[in-house]
Amino acid sequence: MSIEFIYPEFEVVRNADRCTTCRICEKQCANGVHIYDAEHKKMISDETKCVNCQRCVSFCPTRALKIVKSDNTLRDNSNWSGNTIKEVFKQATGGGVLLSSMGNPNPLPVYWDKILINASQVTNPPIDPLREPMETRTFLGKKPEKIQRNDRGELICKLEPQIELSMPMMFSAMSYGSISYNAHAALAKAATELGILYNTGEGGLHEDFYKYGPNTIVQVASGRFGVHEDYLEAGAAIEIKMGQGAKPGIGGHLPGAKIVGDVSRTRMIPEGSDAISPAPHHDIYSIEDLRQLVFSLKEATEYKKPIIVKVAAVHNIAAIASGIARSGADIIAIDGFRGGTGAAPTRIRDNVGIPIELALAAVDQRLRDEGIRNNVSLVVGGSIRSSSDVIKAVALGADACYVATAALLAMGCHLCRSCQTGKCNWGIATQRPDLVSRLDPEVGSKRLVNLMKAWRHEIMEIMGGMGINSIETLRGNRLMLRGIGLTAKELEILGISHAGE
Ligand code: SF4
Ligand code: SF4
Repeated sequence: MSIEFIYPEFEVVRNADRCTTCRICEKQCANGVHIYDAEHKKMISDETKCVNCQRCVSFCPTRALKIVKSDNTLRDNSNWSGNTIKEVFKQATGGGVLLSSMGNPNPLPVYWDKILINASQVTNPPIDPLREPMETRTFLGKKPEKIQRNDRGELICKLEPQIELSMPMMFSAMSYGSISYNAHAALAKAATELGILYNTGEGGLHEDFYKYGPNTIVQVASGRFGVHEDYLEAGAAIEIKMGQGAKPGIGGHLPGAKIVGDVSRTRMIPEGSDAISPAPHHDIYSIEDLRQLVFSLKEATEYKKPIIVKVAAVHNIAAIASGIARSGADIIAIDGFRGGTGAAPTRIRDNVGIPIELALAAVDQRLRDEGIRNNVSLVVGGSIRSSSDVIKAVALGADACYVATAALLAMGCHLCRSCQTGKCNWGIATQRPDLVSRLDPEVGSKRLVNLMKAWRHEIMEIMGGMGINSIETLRGNRLMLRGIGLTAKELEILGISHAGE
């Protein structure tokens, strides 16, 4: 028996007058929190297992349930928070690396919330997006530096391969294995209906989803799971994953328990074997090596597909991006330190990397200073929570944004941050067939489409308010942004003035 007792983080409050002992909460909870006590004919709770996913609360037909944060505390200590003490207890008991999922939840600055957007008044009047045309179409890929003509004065129209998006958003990488078949199906369907792209992550592409190829980014990660010729051919673009915001500098690990059936076939590894992605690509130790992989992938797909290189936002990200822009890549994807994950070591998730807002501003400026900004498009992710985050990212220099956590929320995720257990009660981060079936891909897809259409509408309204009728005009237009409550250094890195200036 463990020598310490950790009081449960959440308490189940069950209103006895309302509870009809229908036992729905018991069936809905994969963690075994709710138990029927036959002797006393009432429901009881094992709160030590509760992760506050809100599944039981949502399904209780009489609204008899509430999950509340426990107000039991350890003695106040500004240095040793209750959470820190509990983590020490856990490690002393288990002896292992602490694992977490989803993004960094700590109260570090969210720069999106310290940036304000401009609006037109009097001159340069606002534009009514309901009556005037508004362009949100976005093209990702290398752009020519200048308009060129041939000897006969005709325009040279040859462009490097481009991704066309109906709006400056895409669904970020989430692998089959870390999320369920139904969640992948919902993302693929929604991306196709919206005219945007979703991303396979590093788990390969299930054969059922090849039909969504024109709206798919296929990822090549260090483990090379599920990578073969047909896979590369299937996607509209290929992403080389060098890093991920939630766990920069380390590889990935999907436990053997999740490598079952179709997940094992799609990844091309035996059932039950751990899927371990090494921290580095073992053929990449320099920009020259990266260039070789970029051109190998271009060669393999006859130079028809843009190549994305995805990196985590780390301290010297501007210099790294400059190297990638010279590697022949068409698009750089940067993932900030709040980016989600199915599983990451807690210490790394919460302490490594930098905010995407600062990384984006630094990269865009560096590429402009070096005269190579048009060599690549920039896609940013790592906690894009709303349409206003997208607007601010575009004005800071992004060509498009990767959306992941918000997409999971649209499908039912309640951010309980327990994906690593494989027991997602909402049918998303799980491979258990009884749980997977809880997510209807049609419903999930419809909700994703609703979310992205709503964001697009809000983007058009905000652009109209600024007197701008094209997302292209907003791109890198930092004059449209002002900082609030930021230091001079932060404003300098973001390249924006303070509110009132
Ligand atoms: S779902 Fe609600 S009503 Fe049914 S047993 Fe659970 S708490 Fe009681
Ligand atoms: S995907 Fe599921 S397990 Fe992961 S945070 Fe969301 S609800 Fe929790």
